[in-house]
Amino acid sequence: MKKAIIIGAGIGGLASSIRLKSKGYHVSVFEANSYPGGKLTEISGNGFRFDAGPSLFTMPEKVEEVLSVINGVDVDFEYDQLDEVCRYFYEDGTVVKGWGDANKFAQEVEEKLQVSAKDVMKHLSKSAFIYETTAELFLEKSLHKLSTYFSLSTFRSFVKLPFLNINSSMDKVNTKALKHPKLVQLFNRYATYNGSNPYVAPGILNIIPHLEFGKGAYFPKNGMHAITQSLFHYAKKAGVEFHFDAKIEKLETLSGEVTSARYMGKDIKADVFVSNMDVVPFYKNLLPNSKLPQKILNQERSSSALIFYWGIRKEFESLILHNILFSENYKEEFEYIFNKKSVYHDPTVYINISSKHNKKDAPKGCENWFVMINVPADSGQQWDDLITTCKRNILSKIHRILKVDISSFIEYENILHPQLIQNKTSSYKGALYGSSSNKKMAAFFRHPNFSNQYSNLFFCGGSVHPGGGIPLALSSAKIVSELVD
Ligand SMILES: Cc1cc2nc3c(=O)[nH]c(=O)nc-3n(C[C@H](O)[C@H](O)[C@H](O)COP(=O)(O)OP(=O)(O)OC[C@H]3O[C@@H](n4cnc5c(N)ncnc54)[C@H](O)[C@@H]3O)c2cc1C
Repeated sequence: MKKAIIIGAGIGGLASSIRLKSKGYHVSVFEANSYPGGKLTEISGNGFRFDAGPSLFTMPEKVEEVLSVINGVDVDFEYDQLDEVCRYFYEDGTVVKGWGDANKFAQEVEEKLQVSAKDVMKHLSKSAFIYETTAELFLEKSLHKLSTYFSLSTFRSFVKLPFLNINSSMDKVNTKALKHPKLVQLFNRYATYNGSNPYVAPGILNIIPHLEFGKGAYFPKNGMHAITQSLFHYAKKAGVEFHFDAKIEKLETLSGEVTSARYMGKDIKADVFVSNMDVVPFYKNLLPNSKLPQKILNQERSSSALIFYWGIRKEFESLILHNILFSENYKEEFEYIFNKKSVYHDPTVYINISSKHNKKDAPKGCENWFVMINVPADSGQQWDDLITTCKRNILSKIHRILKVDISSFIEYENILHPQLIQNKTSSYKGALYGSSSNKKMAAFFRHPNFSNQYSNLFFCGGSVHPGGGIPLALSSAKIVSELVD
């Protein structure tokens, strides 16, 4: 039986382990942490449970697909579709309900912002068009194999490229189509789904709203961590071997192949090696003497996050699972994140409350608030000072918008910031989504899913093609399993 070693048990590593197992490999996963899931993990304290990383679940079919690749192996994985996906709050008291049903959302916008429902629907159809034109090429295939370019579907995508707004920023496209600043802000926010800046990132990223309005947003029973748990249990049932607290220190190579992975001073041999690590520490630590793909490693990182996990001794009827409290000057907020490498004094605040769906995530009469703002990737900022300032600004924003000073209701607190994200998952500079998608050809410049130097070395996860986020990390695992063939 051929042997495969997977380095890292993030979502991409778990999915790769299952897919290679289904191809008959003996698969061993080595994970530096004592638990699987990487960024997709959970924390708890004082009777509160929090999903520590991802909170928005789209394209559940990608998880289902992995959980069905091996005949006779079954695990439970249940989820509900969200009726109202997100509630948007503005400083002047306007509240827009982001219904998952596109028509209902368009009616809501017409009523609250006086933008015609027809214009909203037209904008959403454009988003669907971008998805239908590009998804197969950009999300399902390796962009770095010549064979990809000799297919009819690729040809069709390329013919339509001039209509995909590659040469304008998301903001320009949204402003032209929607005009109303509040609605433009709402659509610009989708750039943050891959850690980008809507004032720079190409309009093709307007594909993202289609995921919510066209394909739907979901929430797994037992929370986001259930995705990790399901994949992990499925892999174990299928016979994948896991090693935790098992950091791979180095790879040995010979004649264009990786021969072994070093763990606790021992060299473990295998036929195929799959890295689920962020590519930057991978090259720097595991292959220090190899030629580095310097251009790729120097790419701008995506944004990171500052998160306060707050156990709140109160319930808020005005809030749902996903809530956004918008900043008054969105452009300035992104100027701070990407250019000044700091945090604007009036940040957009995201409040995720999983106990709205999963009652056991908080004690009775309480709620588990995951309060996040977008911040720059780590470049040596004084995070202790920034955290103190940001906490004050966030509390003041919540006070202004919800008309409640929540500080006295916080009975549990935990904090995650870029340096901690890097420490816990080895993600370079604590970026959430690997390299940013701010450049128009970013999709083509991400690290490929294979190595140009070593024929049996492959890459999956959010720092390589097709990019960050749960669905894309799962796609990367599928592409890897096809390339291994
Ligand atoms: C705060 C936050 C919010 C997010 N929100 C969303 C969201 O709402 N929706 C969404 O879809 N995505 C979201 N994301 C992004 C999503 O979490 C990631 O894109 C995805 O989980 C990345 O998975 P991955 O496969 O790249 O592995 P990672 O999660 O990056 O895990 C990599 C694993 O490799 C291990 N490792 C590293 N080095 C070694 C080594 N030398 N030896 C062994 N193991 C090693 C690490 O310990 C880690 O467990 C969010 C991320 C964060 C942090």
